[in-house]
Amino acid sequence: MSLAIGIDIGGTKVAGGVVDEDGQVLVRTRRDTPHRSKRPRVVEDTIVDVVEELRAQRPDITAVGIGAAGFVAADRATVVFAPHLSWRHEPLRDALSKRIDAPILVENDANAACWAEWRFGAAQGESDVVMVNLGTGIGGAILMHGELIRGRYGIAGEFGHMQVVPEGQRCECGNRGCWEQYASGNALVREARAMILANSPVATDLAARVDGRADELTGPIVTEAARDGDATSTELLAEIGHWLGIGIANLAAAFDPGTFVIGGGVSAAGELLLGPARETFRRRLTGRGYRPEAQIVAARLGNEAGLIGAADLARNEASE
Ligand SMILES: [Zn+2]
Repeated sequence: MSLAIGIDIGGTKVAGGVVDEDGQVLVRTRRDTPHRSKRPRVVEDTIVDVVEELRAQRPDITAVGIGAAGFVAADRATVVFAPHLSWRHEPLRDALSKRIDAPILVENDANAACWAEWRFGAAQGESDVVMVNLGTGIGGAILMHGELIRGRYGIAGEFGHMQVVPEGQRCECGNRGCWEQYASGNALVREARAMILANSPVATDLAARVDGRADELTGPIVTEAARDGDATSTELLAEIGHWLGIGIANLAAAFDPGTFVIGGGVSAAGELLLGPARETFRRRLTGRGYRPEAQIVAARLGNEAGLIGAADLARNEASE
């Protein structure tokens, strides 16, 4: 059994694990992500530290895969830009190769997660997959005929900044009306907070859950309220689902996958989100009624998908 280490570098945590050929995580560890004011070397130290700890327990690993939130160049060696870190055109693979004695591969975290869901999770057996990750923003990945589609510069799959509302909400990217302004975790929290701040009578349940402090409201609190039967929270999630369906219909027009896998924190809402998404998707799909419809399913591997995928991709690359 060939083992590989996978590392997922997120905005707050660096998670690492030893992953076997069936996608099982045998050993795991984690560290806080160094603040973005820190030099690139500090993040490297954290990665090396995680690898050493895991290797002390399983010395027989064959490769190290690193999934990073950011733009990873198509050479899978360089991080072009990572919003949460100080990396700007960082030659990560070469820097780490001097310190880690194993083949190393760097991959965008959403690509790694999509790969994992295809190999071991919600999209097993599918040939054409589009993954949509709903976190603070929206990230994603495209896998066609069993291969990740990275684009000429490695930046394909940044679906969050497709425009869905002309002249809509302002986005951090500088444009207006981006999809992630309507269908992400941030959008959910923004809308829910606005209702509390407006003292809306329909937001009583939500307000009570945070003692009226709107800034303490989070996505999971809204999901929990919806599960407990709060009509407003259910409606807020349905609205996010509706916008999700609109964007997915656009993606179907472009890529025609057999399965959409919905991951990220908001996907924990399950059918409260996916039901409305499927409904809108069906109403907006190009050629509806005359074409097969893609399935829309929840991701299955949770927040370990990134590290599992990174490990598997690195192992495959090393064995070629
Ligand atoms: Zn944007």
